[in-house]
Amino acid sequence: MPEQVVTMDKIVSLCKRRGFIFPASEIYGGIANTYDYGHYGVLLKNNVIAQWWKAMIQDRDDIVALDSAIIQHPRTWEASGHLAGFTDPLVDCRTCKQRFRADHLQELQCGRKPSKHPGEDTQCDLTEAREFNLMFETTIGPVKEAGATVYLRPETAQGIFLDFKQVLQFARRKPPFGIAQVGKSFRNEITPGNFVFRTLEFEQMEMEYFVPPDQAERWYEHWLTERLDWYVRLGIDSARLRLRAHDADELSHYSSATSDVEYLYPIGWSELEGIANRGDFDLTQHARHSGERLEYVDAQGGERYVPHVIEPAAGVGRSILAFLCDAYDEDELGGERRTVLRLHPALAPVKVAVLPLLRRDGHPELARAVYEDVRRHVNAEYDDGGAIGRRYRRQDEIGTPFAVTIDHQSLDDGTVTLRDRDTLEQERVAIEGLARLLQDRLTVD
Ligand code: ATP
Repeated sequence: MPEQVVTMDKIVSLCKRRGFIFPASEIYGGIANTYDYGHYGVLLKNNVIAQWWKAMIQDRDDIVALDSAIIQHPRTWEASGHLAGFTDPLVDCRTCKQRFRADHLQELQCGRKPSKHPGEDTQCDLTEAREFNLMFETTIGPVKEAGATVYLRPETAQGIFLDFKQVLQFARRKPPFGIAQVGKSFRNEITPGNFVFRTLEFEQMEMEYFVPPDQAERWYEHWLTERLDWYVRLGIDSARLRLRAHDADELSHYSSATSDVEYLYPIGWSELEGIANRGDFDLTQHARHSGERLEYVDAQGGERYVPHVIEPAAGVGRSILAFLCDAYDEDELGGERRTVLRLHPALAPVKVAVLPLLRRDGHPELARAVYEDVRRHVNAEYDDGGAIGRRYRRQDEIGTPFAVTIDHQSLDDGTVTLRDRDTLEQERVAIEGLARLLQDRLTVD
Protein backbone atom coordinates (compact mmCIF):
# COMPACT_ATOMS: atom_id res chain seq x y z
CA MET A 1 0.00 0.00 0.00
CA PRO A 2 1.45 3.43 -0.90
CA GLU A 3 2.53 5.61 2.01
CA GLN A 4 -0.42 7.66 3.23
CA VAL A 5 0.50 11.23 4.10
CA VAL A 6 -3.07 12.36 4.53
CA THR A 7 -4.79 13.13 7.82
CA MET A 8 -8.34 14.33 8.40
CA ASP A 9 -6.96 17.72 9.53
CA LYS A 10 -5.08 18.16 6.25
CA ILE A 11 -8.22 17.39 4.22
CA VAL A 12 -10.38 19.72 6.30
CA SER A 13 -7.84 22.49 6.00
CA LEU A 14 -7.35 22.04 2.22
CA CYS A 15 -11.12 22.00 1.71
CA LYS A 16 -11.48 25.23 3.64
CA ARG A 17 -8.42 26.93 2.10
CA ARG A 18 -9.54 26.25 -1.45
CA GLY A 19 -13.24 26.66 -0.77
CA PHE A 20 -14.32 23.06 -1.48
CA ILE A 21 -16.27 22.45 1.75
CA PHE A 22 -16.58 24.52 4.92
CA PRO A 23 -18.75 24.65 8.07
CA ALA A 24 -22.29 25.97 7.48
CA SER A 25 -23.67 29.01 9.34
CA GLU A 26 -20.16 29.97 10.34
CA ILE A 27 -21.01 33.60 11.07
CA TYR A 28 -23.29 32.29 13.83
CA GLY A 29 -20.66 29.91 15.16
CA GLY A 30 -21.57 26.99 12.91
CA ILE A 31 -24.07 24.18 13.40
CA ALA A 32 -22.98 20.69 14.35
CA ASN A 33 -22.32 18.19 11.55
CA THR A 34 -23.48 20.55 8.78
CA TYR A 35 -21.34 21.80 5.89
CA ASP A 36 -21.60 23.97 2.80
CA TYR A 37 -19.98 23.21 -0.55
CA GLY A 38 -18.15 26.07 -2.28
CA HIS A 39 -17.30 26.45 -5.98
CA TYR A 40 -14.80 23.59 -6.39
CA GLY A 41 -16.77 21.43 -3.97
CA VAL A 42 -19.90 21.81 -6.09
CA LEU A 43 -17.99 20.95 -9.28
CA LEU A 44 -16.43 17.89 -7.63
CA LYS A 45 -19.79 16.79 -6.21
CA ASN A 46 -21.48 17.19 -9.60
CA ASN A 47 -18.74 15.10 -11.22
CA VAL A 48 -19.11 12.30 -8.66
CA ILE A 49 -22.87 12.23 -9.15
CA ALA A 50 -22.49 12.37 -12.96
CA GLN A 51 -20.16 9.37 -12.86
CA TRP A 52 -22.68 7.45 -10.75
CA TRP A 53 -25.48 8.24 -13.22
CA LYS A 54 -23.20 7.24 -16.07
CA ALA A 55 -22.56 3.84 -14.46
CA MET A 56 -26.27 3.35 -13.79
CA ILE A 57 -27.94 4.76 -16.90
CA GLN A 58 -25.50 5.39 -19.74
CA ASP A 59 -23.41 2.25 -19.39
CA ARG A 60 -26.40 -0.12 -19.02
CA ASP A 61 -29.94 -0.33 -20.31
CA ASP A 62 -31.75 -1.99 -17.40
CA ILE A 63 -32.03 0.99 -15.02
CA VAL A 64 -34.31 4.05 -15.11
CA ALA A 65 -34.07 7.33 -13.20
CA LEU A 66 -36.41 8.79 -10.58
CA ASP A 67 -36.57 11.92 -8.42
CA SER A 68 -39.13 11.43 -5.65
CA ALA A 69 -40.27 13.84 -2.92
CA ILE A 70 -38.34 14.38 0.31
CA ILE A 71 -41.55 14.60 2.34
CA GLN A 72 -43.72 11.56 1.68
CA HIS A 73 -46.98 10.43 3.26
CA PRO A 74 -46.22 9.74 6.96
CA ARG A 75 -47.55 6.20 6.68
CA THR A 76 -44.54 5.46 4.45
CA TRP A 77 -42.35 5.34 7.55
CA GLU A 78 -44.80 3.23 9.47
CA ALA A 79 -44.75 0.64 6.68
CA SER A 80 -40.99 0.79 6.13
CA GLY A 81 -40.32 0.18 9.82
CA HIS A 82 -38.44 3.47 10.29
CA LEU A 83 -40.93 4.89 12.78
CA ALA A 84 -40.50 1.94 15.10
CA GLY A 85 -37.01 0.80 14.32
CA PHE A 86 -34.79 3.54 12.89
CA THR A 87 -33.22 4.31 16.23
CA ASP A 88 -29.86 4.55 17.91
CA PRO A 89 -29.39 3.59 21.57
CA LEU A 90 -28.26 6.66 23.53
CA VAL A 91 -26.87 7.20 26.99
CA ASP A 92 -26.45 10.52 28.84
CA CYS A 93 -23.71 11.22 31.35
CA ARG A 94 -25.13 12.96 34.44
CA THR A 95 -21.65 14.27 35.30
CA CYS A 96 -20.41 15.80 32.06
CA LYS A 97 -23.90 16.27 30.52
CA GLN A 98 -22.80 14.77 27.22
CA ARG A 99 -24.74 12.29 25.12
CA PHE A 100 -23.21 9.19 23.56
CA ARG A 101 -24.18 6.34 21.21
CA ALA A 102 -24.38 3.36 23.57
CA ASP A 103 -23.07 1.05 20.84
CA HIS A 104 -20.05 3.29 20.07
CA LEU A 105 -18.69 3.89 23.59
CA GLN A 106 -15.38 2.26 22.78
CA GLU A 107 -14.76 4.76 19.94
CA LEU A 108 -15.85 7.84 21.94
CA GLN A 109 -14.16 10.00 24.54
CA CYS A 110 -15.38 10.84 28.03
CA GLY A 111 -16.41 14.51 28.35
CA ARG A 112 -14.10 15.12 31.33
CA LYS A 113 -11.25 12.71 30.72
CA PRO A 114 -10.57 12.62 26.97
CA SER A 115 -8.05 9.83 27.53
CA LYS A 116 -10.89 7.52 28.65
CA HIS A 117 -14.04 6.14 27.07
CA PRO A 118 -17.44 7.16 28.50
CA GLY A 119 -18.23 5.10 31.59
CA GLU A 120 -14.59 4.22 32.32
CA ASP A 121 -13.81 6.96 34.82
CA THR A 122 -15.04 6.63 38.41
CA GLN A 123 -16.85 9.98 38.04
CA CYS A 124 -18.83 8.90 34.97
CA ASP A 125 -22.52 8.43 35.70
CA LEU A 126 -24.23 7.04 32.61
CA THR A 127 -28.00 6.63 32.29
CA GLU A 128 -29.58 3.47 30.94
CA ALA A 129 -29.61 3.34 27.12
CA ARG A 130 -32.74 4.84 25.51
CA GLU A 131 -33.79 4.36 21.88
CA PHE A 132 -33.69 7.65 19.95
CA ASN A 133 -35.36 7.94 16.53
CA LEU A 134 -33.10 9.49 13.88
CA MET A 135 -35.88 10.94 11.72
CA PHE A 136 -36.42 14.71 11.64
CA GLU A 137 -40.01 15.60 12.27
CA THR A 138 -41.92 18.59 10.97
CA THR A 139 -45.54 19.66 10.52
CA ILE A 140 -47.67 20.34 7.45
CA GLY A 141 -50.08 23.19 8.02
CA PRO A 142 -49.91 26.50 9.88
CA VAL A 143 -50.78 25.22 13.36
CA LYS A 144 -48.40 22.72 14.86
CA GLU A 145 -50.98 21.04 17.09
CA ALA A 146 -53.62 20.61 14.38
CA GLY A 147 -51.24 19.85 11.52
CA ALA A 148 -50.06 16.49 10.27
CA THR A 149 -46.70 15.29 11.52
CA VAL A 150 -44.42 14.39 8.62
CA TYR A 151 -40.79 13.34 8.34
CA LEU A 152 -37.80 14.36 6.25
CA ARG A 153 -36.78 11.14 4.51
CA PRO A 154 -33.89 9.32 6.20
CA GLU A 155 -33.13 7.44 2.94
CA THR A 156 -34.15 7.98 -0.67
CA ALA A 157 -35.04 4.31 -1.18
CA GLN A 158 -38.62 4.45 0.10
CA GLY A 159 -39.68 6.93 -2.63
CA ILE A 160 -38.59 4.31 -5.14
CA PHE A 161 -40.76 1.60 -3.57
CA LEU A 162 -43.79 3.92 -3.45
CA ASP A 163 -43.42 4.58 -7.18
CA PHE A 164 -42.66 0.98 -8.15
CA LYS A 165 -46.04 0.47 -9.85
CA GLN A 166 -45.92 3.77 -11.75
CA VAL A 167 -42.42 3.15 -13.03
CA LEU A 168 -43.22 -0.42 -14.03
CA GLN A 169 -46.00 0.95 -16.28
CA PHE A 170 -44.17 3.72 -18.08
CA ALA A 171 -40.67 2.22 -18.18
CA ARG A 172 -41.91 -0.94 -19.92
CA ARG A 173 -39.32 -3.02 -18.04
CA LYS A 174 -39.51 -6.41 -16.42
CA PRO A 175 -37.30 -7.79 -13.64
CA PRO A 176 -34.37 -7.74 -13.47
CA PHE A 177 -34.46 -3.94 -13.73
CA GLY A 178 -33.52 -1.04 -11.49
CA ILE A 179 -34.72 2.39 -10.41
CA ALA A 180 -32.02 4.88 -9.47
CA GLN A 181 -32.24 8.12 -7.57
CA VAL A 182 -29.91 10.78 -6.15
CA GLY A 183 -31.07 13.19 -3.49
CA LYS A 184 -30.87 14.54 0.02
CA SER A 185 -31.61 12.48 3.10
CA PHE A 186 -31.72 13.64 6.70
CA ARG A 187 -30.73 11.95 9.96
CA ASN A 188 -30.62 13.41 13.44
CA GLU A 189 -27.15 12.00 14.09
CA ILE A 190 -25.72 12.31 17.57
CA THR A 191 -22.21 10.89 17.10
CA PRO A 192 -19.47 13.37 16.15
CA GLY A 193 -19.22 13.81 12.44
CA ASN A 194 -15.62 13.40 11.22
CA PHE A 195 -16.14 16.16 8.67
CA VAL A 196 -18.53 15.11 5.86
CA PHE A 197 -18.37 11.43 6.86
CA ARG A 198 -21.46 11.85 9.05
CA THR A 199 -23.69 14.87 8.59
CA LEU A 200 -27.29 15.74 9.44
CA GLU A 201 -28.23 16.20 5.81
CA PHE A 202 -26.43 14.32 3.06
CA GLU A 203 -26.93 13.22 -0.51
CA GLN A 204 -27.43 9.57 -1.30
CA MET A 205 -27.03 7.74 -4.59
CA GLU A 206 -29.35 4.75 -4.29
CA MET A 207 -30.54 2.16 -6.74
CA GLU A 208 -33.17 -0.50 -6.11
CA TYR A 209 -32.70 -3.47 -8.42
CA PHE A 210 -35.84 -5.61 -8.70
CA VAL A 211 -35.23 -9.26 -9.53
CA PRO A 212 -37.12 -12.58 -9.68
CA PRO A 213 -36.78 -14.08 -6.16
CA ASP A 214 -34.62 -17.01 -7.29
CA GLN A 215 -32.07 -14.60 -8.83
CA ALA A 216 -31.52 -12.45 -5.72
CA GLU A 217 -28.30 -14.10 -4.60
CA ARG A 218 -26.72 -13.86 -8.05
CA TRP A 219 -27.55 -10.16 -8.44
CA TYR A 220 -26.38 -9.38 -4.93
CA GLU A 221 -22.95 -10.77 -5.87
CA HIS A 222 -23.08 -8.86 -9.17
CA TRP A 223 -23.66 -5.51 -7.44
CA LEU A 224 -20.93 -6.13 -4.86
CA THR A 225 -18.39 -6.45 -7.66
CA GLU A 226 -19.85 -3.63 -9.77
CA ARG A 227 -19.83 -1.11 -6.96
CA LEU A 228 -16.35 -1.95 -5.74
CA ASP A 229 -15.07 -1.63 -9.33
CA TRP A 230 -16.68 1.79 -9.73
CA TYR A 231 -14.45 3.30 -7.05
CA VAL A 232 -11.35 1.62 -8.49
CA ARG A 233 -12.18 2.83 -12.02
CA LEU A 234 -12.37 6.36 -10.63
CA GLY A 235 -8.87 6.12 -9.23
CA ILE A 236 -9.19 4.82 -5.67
CA ASP A 237 -6.33 2.54 -4.68
CA SER A 238 -7.85 -0.94 -4.37
CA ALA A 239 -5.59 -1.62 -1.38
CA ARG A 240 -7.64 0.93 0.55
CA LEU A 241 -11.00 -0.63 -0.36
CA ARG A 242 -12.59 -3.78 0.95
CA LEU A 243 -15.95 -5.51 1.18
CA ARG A 244 -17.14 -6.44 4.66
CA ALA A 245 -20.16 -8.69 5.12
CA HIS A 246 -22.42 -7.79 8.07
CA ASP A 247 -22.74 -10.27 10.90
CA ALA A 248 -26.28 -11.51 11.58
CA ASP A 249 -26.67 -9.18 14.60
CA GLU A 250 -25.69 -6.10 12.53
CA LEU A 251 -28.31 -6.59 9.81
CA SER A 252 -31.04 -3.95 9.41
CA HIS A 253 -34.62 -5.05 10.02
CA TYR A 254 -35.27 -5.37 6.26
CA SER A 255 -32.11 -7.14 5.16
CA SER A 256 -31.22 -10.78 4.68
CA ALA A 257 -27.63 -9.97 3.65
CA THR A 258 -25.62 -6.75 3.60
CA SER A 259 -22.03 -5.95 2.75
CA ASP A 260 -20.34 -2.61 3.15
CA VAL A 261 -17.81 -1.21 0.76
CA GLU A 262 -15.31 0.14 3.26
CA TYR A 263 -12.54 2.65 2.65
CA LEU A 264 -9.45 3.12 4.76
CA TYR A 265 -10.17 6.72 5.81
CA PRO A 266 -7.72 8.51 8.13
CA ILE A 267 -10.16 7.49 10.90
CA GLY A 268 -9.74 3.80 9.98
CA TRP A 269 -11.78 1.36 7.87
CA SER A 270 -15.33 2.76 7.63
CA GLU A 271 -18.46 2.34 5.53
CA LEU A 272 -18.47 4.10 2.20
CA GLU A 273 -21.46 2.33 0.70
CA GLY A 274 -23.87 -0.41 1.78
CA ILE A 275 -25.14 -3.14 -0.56
CA ALA A 276 -28.18 -4.95 0.82
CA ASN A 277 -30.38 -7.81 -0.20
CA ARG A 278 -33.71 -6.36 1.00
CA GLY A 279 -35.72 -9.38 -0.14
CA ASP A 280 -39.40 -8.53 -0.69
CA PHE A 281 -39.68 -6.70 2.64
CA ASP A 282 -40.40 -3.18 1.34
CA LEU A 283 -42.83 -3.99 -1.47
CA THR A 284 -44.74 -6.40 0.79
CA GLN A 285 -44.93 -3.87 3.62
CA HIS A 286 -46.15 -1.04 1.36
CA ALA A 287 -48.67 -3.36 -0.28
CA ARG A 288 -50.02 -4.32 3.15
CA HIS A 289 -50.23 -0.73 4.42
CA SER A 290 -51.54 0.90 1.24
CA GLY A 291 -53.81 -1.84 -0.07
CA GLU A 292 -52.15 -1.61 -3.53
CA ARG A 293 -50.78 -4.77 -5.13
CA LEU A 294 -47.09 -4.18 -5.64
CA GLU A 295 -45.97 -7.06 -7.78
CA TYR A 296 -44.84 -7.97 -11.24
CA VAL A 297 -47.33 -9.64 -13.55
CA ASP A 298 -46.01 -11.14 -16.74
CA ALA A 299 -48.28 -10.06 -19.61
CA GLN A 300 -47.66 -13.25 -21.61
CA GLY A 301 -47.50 -16.11 -19.13
CA GLY A 302 -49.58 -14.45 -16.40
CA GLU A 303 -46.88 -15.30 -13.86
CA ARG A 304 -47.04 -12.97 -10.84
CA TYR A 305 -44.58 -12.43 -8.01
CA VAL A 306 -43.22 -9.79 -5.65
CA PRO A 307 -39.70 -9.05 -6.86
CA HIS A 308 -36.79 -9.17 -4.47
CA VAL A 309 -34.60 -6.11 -4.22
CA ILE A 310 -30.84 -5.61 -4.25
CA GLU A 311 -29.84 -2.13 -3.13
CA PRO A 312 -26.47 -0.43 -3.57
CA ALA A 313 -26.71 2.72 -1.38
CA ALA A 314 -23.83 5.17 -1.54
CA GLY A 315 -23.29 8.53 0.13
CA VAL A 316 -22.07 11.48 -1.94
CA GLY A 317 -20.25 13.10 1.00
CA ARG A 318 -18.48 9.89 2.02
CA SER A 319 -17.49 9.26 -1.61
CA ILE A 320 -16.08 12.76 -1.93
CA LEU A 321 -14.16 12.30 1.31
CA ALA A 322 -12.72 9.00 0.03
CA PHE A 323 -11.79 10.49 -3.36
CA LEU A 324 -10.12 13.46 -1.65
CA CYS A 325 -8.21 11.33 0.87
CA ASP A 326 -7.04 8.95 -1.83
CA ALA A 327 -5.98 11.73 -4.20
CA TYR A 328 -4.18 13.78 -1.55
CA ASP A 329 -0.41 13.78 -1.88
CA GLU A 330 2.55 15.88 -0.90
CA ASP A 331 5.87 15.97 -2.70
CA GLU A 332 8.92 18.16 -3.05
CA LEU A 333 9.24 20.62 -5.91
CA GLY A 334 12.16 23.05 -6.28
CA GLY A 335 12.95 22.68 -2.58
CA GLU A 336 9.35 23.43 -1.59
CA ARG A 337 6.64 21.14 -0.30
CA ARG A 338 3.82 20.76 -2.84
CA THR A 339 0.31 19.61 -2.00
CA VAL A 340 -1.40 17.94 -4.92
CA LEU A 341 -4.75 16.27 -5.45
CA ARG A 342 -4.20 13.45 -7.91
CA LEU A 343 -7.89 13.27 -8.77
CA HIS A 344 -9.13 11.17 -11.67
CA PRO A 345 -9.62 13.59 -14.63
CA ALA A 346 -13.34 12.78 -14.72
CA LEU A 347 -13.67 14.03 -11.14
CA ALA A 348 -11.31 17.01 -11.23
CA PRO A 349 -13.35 20.21 -10.77
CA VAL A 350 -11.25 22.06 -13.38
CA LYS A 351 -9.67 20.12 -16.25
CA VAL A 352 -7.23 22.70 -17.55
CA ALA A 353 -5.82 26.03 -16.35
CA VAL A 354 -4.80 28.60 -18.94
CA LEU A 355 -2.03 30.88 -17.68
CA PRO A 356 -0.31 33.81 -19.40
CA LEU A 357 3.33 33.90 -18.26
CA LEU A 358 3.27 37.71 -18.03
CA ARG A 359 0.51 40.25 -17.69
CA ARG A 360 1.89 42.22 -20.65
CA ASP A 361 3.60 41.81 -24.05
CA GLY A 362 0.48 40.30 -25.61
CA HIS A 363 0.44 37.24 -23.33
CA PRO A 364 -2.99 37.92 -21.75
CA GLU A 365 -4.65 38.52 -25.13
CA LEU A 366 -3.40 35.27 -26.64
CA ALA A 367 -4.07 33.37 -23.40
CA ARG A 368 -7.66 34.66 -23.37
CA ALA A 369 -8.17 33.48 -26.94
CA VAL A 370 -6.78 30.02 -26.08
CA TYR A 371 -8.99 29.91 -22.97
CA GLU A 372 -12.13 30.86 -24.93
CA ASP A 373 -11.44 28.05 -27.37
CA VAL A 374 -10.58 25.37 -24.80
CA ARG A 375 -13.50 26.09 -22.47
CA ARG A 376 -16.01 25.30 -25.18
CA HIS A 377 -14.89 21.68 -24.79
CA VAL A 378 -13.73 21.20 -21.19
CA ASN A 379 -14.13 23.02 -17.89
CA ALA A 380 -11.24 25.50 -17.87
CA GLU A 381 -9.98 28.29 -15.66
CA TYR A 382 -8.09 31.43 -16.63
CA ASP A 383 -5.61 32.70 -14.05
CA ASP A 384 -3.20 35.60 -14.45
CA GLY A 385 -2.71 36.46 -10.76
CA GLY A 386 0.75 36.07 -9.18
CA ALA A 387 3.98 34.27 -9.98
CA ILE A 388 3.62 31.31 -12.34
CA GLY A 389 4.90 28.85 -9.69
CA ARG A 390 2.19 29.94 -7.26
CA ARG A 391 -0.46 29.59 -9.94
CA TYR A 392 0.69 26.02 -10.70
CA ARG A 393 0.61 25.26 -6.99
CA ARG A 394 -2.96 26.59 -6.72
CA GLN A 395 -4.09 24.34 -9.57
CA ASP A 396 -2.23 21.34 -8.09
CA GLU A 397 -4.14 21.81 -4.84
CA ILE A 398 -7.50 21.68 -6.56
CA GLY A 399 -6.44 18.72 -8.69
CA THR A 400 -6.36 20.32 -12.17
CA PRO A 401 -4.75 17.70 -14.45
CA PHE A 402 -3.28 20.13 -17.01
CA ALA A 403 -1.92 23.68 -17.18
CA VAL A 404 -1.33 25.54 -20.43
CA THR A 405 1.14 28.43 -20.31
CA ILE A 406 1.40 31.15 -22.92
CA ASP A 407 4.86 32.78 -23.22
CA HIS A 408 7.00 34.76 -25.66
CA GLN A 409 7.49 31.79 -27.93
CA SER A 410 3.73 31.30 -28.19
CA LEU A 411 3.44 34.64 -29.98
CA ASP A 412 6.18 33.65 -32.43
CA ASP A 413 5.29 30.08 -33.32
CA GLY A 414 1.77 29.38 -32.03
CA THR A 415 2.83 26.82 -29.42
CA VAL A 416 2.27 26.67 -25.66
CA THR A 417 3.65 24.60 -22.81
CA LEU A 418 1.43 21.85 -21.54
CA ARG A 419 2.20 20.86 -17.93
CA ASP A 420 1.07 17.53 -16.49
CA ARG A 421 0.01 17.70 -12.80
CA ASP A 422 1.32 14.21 -11.98
CA THR A 423 4.49 13.77 -14.03
CA LEU A 424 5.30 17.51 -13.98
CA GLU A 425 6.49 17.12 -17.57
CA GLN A 426 6.22 20.21 -19.72
CA GLU A 427 5.94 19.78 -23.46
CA ARG A 428 5.50 22.23 -26.31
CA VAL A 429 2.32 21.69 -28.23
CA ALA A 430 0.56 23.65 -30.98
CA ILE A 431 -2.38 25.87 -30.07
CA GLU A 432 -4.11 24.51 -33.11
CA GLY A 433 -5.65 21.20 -32.08
CA LEU A 434 -5.03 21.88 -28.37
CA ALA A 435 -8.67 21.38 -27.33
CA ARG A 436 -8.79 18.00 -29.10
CA LEU A 437 -5.45 16.94 -27.56
CA LEU A 438 -6.75 17.82 -24.08
CA GLN A 439 -10.00 15.98 -24.62
CA ASP A 440 -8.07 12.86 -25.66
CA ARG A 441 -5.76 12.97 -22.66
CA LEU A 442 -8.65 13.57 -20.26
CA THR A 443 -10.51 10.52 -21.48
CA VAL A 444 -9.10 7.68 -19.41
CA ASP A 445 -10.93 4.53 -18.48
P1 ATP B 1 -23.63 4.25 9.49
O1 ATP B 1 -23.62 2.83 10.03
O2 ATP B 1 -22.25 4.80 9.21
O3 ATP B 1 -24.49 5.19 10.26
P2 ATP B 1 -25.64 3.34 7.71
O4 ATP B 1 -25.31 1.89 7.60
O5 ATP B 1 -26.74 3.77 8.62
O6 ATP B 1 -24.31 4.19 8.04
P3 ATP B 1 -27.03 3.38 5.24
O7 ATP B 1 -28.36 3.51 5.85
O8 ATP B 1 -26.62 2.04 4.69
O9 ATP B 1 -25.91 3.91 6.26
O10 ATP B 1 -26.90 4.50 4.13
C1 ATP B 1 -26.23 4.28 2.90
C2 ATP B 1 -25.08 5.26 2.72
O11 ATP B 1 -25.51 6.61 2.97
C3 ATP B 1 -23.91 5.04 3.69
O12 ATP B 1 -23.06 4.03 3.22
C4 ATP B 1 -23.25 6.39 3.67
O13 ATP B 1 -22.40 6.54 2.54
C5 ATP B 1 -24.42 7.34 3.52
N1 ATP B 1 -24.78 7.90 4.83
C6 ATP B 1 -25.60 7.36 5.76
N2 ATP B 1 -25.73 8.16 6.83
C7 ATP B 1 -24.96 9.26 6.57
C8 ATP B 1 -24.69 10.47 7.27
N3 ATP B 1 -25.23 10.74 8.44
N4 ATP B 1 -23.84 11.37 6.70
C9 ATP B 1 -23.28 11.13 5.50
N5 ATP B 1 -23.52 10.02 4.78
C10 ATP B 1 -24.35 9.09 5.30
